[in-house]
Amino acid sequence: MKIPFMRLDRQYALHKDEILSICDTVFSHGRVLQGKEVDSLENKLSEIHRSKHSITVNSGTDALYFALLSLGVLPSDKVIVPSLSFIASASPIERIGAVPVFVDSTFEYHSDIDQIIKIIRTEDIKCVVFVHLYGELVDLSYLYEECKKNDVILIEDGAQALGAVNGDYILGDNSDAATLSFDPMKIAGAYGSGGAVITNSDHVKQEIIRLRYHGRDENRIYVNLGYNSQMSSLQAAIIEFKIKKMSEWTNKRIGIARKYKSHISSDIIAPEENNNITHVYHKYAIRCTNNNRDEIKNKLSDLGIQTMIHYRKPLYSEPIFESYNVDKSQFPVTEKLTNELLSLPIYPELLDSEVDFVVESLSRFS
Ligand SMILES: *Cc1c(COP(=O)(O)O)cnc(C)c1O
Repeated sequence: MKIPFMRLDRQYALHKDEILSICDTVFSHGRVLQGKEVDSLENKLSEIHRSKHSITVNSGTDALYFALLSLGVLPSDKVIVPSLSFIASASPIERIGAVPVFVDSTFEYHSDIDQIIKIIRTEDIKCVVFVHLYGELVDLSYLYEECKKNDVILIEDGAQALGAVNGDYILGDNSDAATLSFDPMKIAGAYGSGGAVITNSDHVKQEIIRLRYHGRDENRIYVNLGYNSQMSSLQAAIIEFKIKKMSEWTNKRIGIARKYKSHISSDIIAPEENNNITHVYHKYAIRCTNNNRDEIKNKLSDLGIQTMIHYRKPLYSEPIFESYNVDKSQFPVTEKLTNELLSLPIYPELLDSEVDFVVESLSRFS
């Protein structure tokens, strides 16, 4: 059996008529940039996140970069970032010339909130970037209060957590701005790149609208240095179509996660499912605790099951951040997790027989 890590081909085959009809609509009206599909997606994102504004841009990376700029992060400012995440959670900080301050993870995978609070109380920190890793929304209400008390900006990197819920909270409730990604690997992926910022701040909205198109204001005057980071009408329409499918797709991923969880045991640890949380399972990352992650990965690969590793190195060990000379002994959890984590295939198009095969193959290691 061949079980690739993603099956966008299968997703397309299942929804070909709808997707081709979207292409036909956009190509026929011809407003391929700044079309009504972009406004429609922005309204939809604001509705989902009950935020005042949503501003689409060309990637999740730009979304975070623009959020940092519009909230006033400047060169040399210190910004707290996770040590376990995708590179784009930290690279926009480097792009500004600001200084990343890494924090350790917890065994729930996200940044250690107690450690963040300790740092913002004692150091001169401008901003915190918190990542809702793998699609689990973390309750940031207490952290956000602490940030406000200490005059620190809080940005949620929600690239992996579109539609995730924690109790009464959704993405954007406990921060100054939250960012989204519509990279093809994400749960509502474009056929290309895409991102968005959600915020209640009129100032942030106005700044990002300028930044995403050459610094141009509403009178068509080029008032500051900007970029070209527009989302195309076609991608906006496709993303909105996928968002309509999202609750159905999320339920399927939750079903797969439960099946994995119920069969995983001994020295493989599956993520906990928490009652109050709707985890959207952008990733399903298990921990191989017996120093056997690469062995398990290779054996699954021999059986036709493709897995991936998110992430193989702590961010501070990537060459672009090596100059900060971070003391690894301060990050025991991240160091351990990067040797243990293994992501299993999880997507709505997985067949029951394929899920069973993954479960059966994994049981050989338990
Ligand atoms: C994907 C991702 C990004 C970047 O989004 P792009 O759309 O690929 O630029 C940022 N942060 C996290 C956590 C991501 O997973």
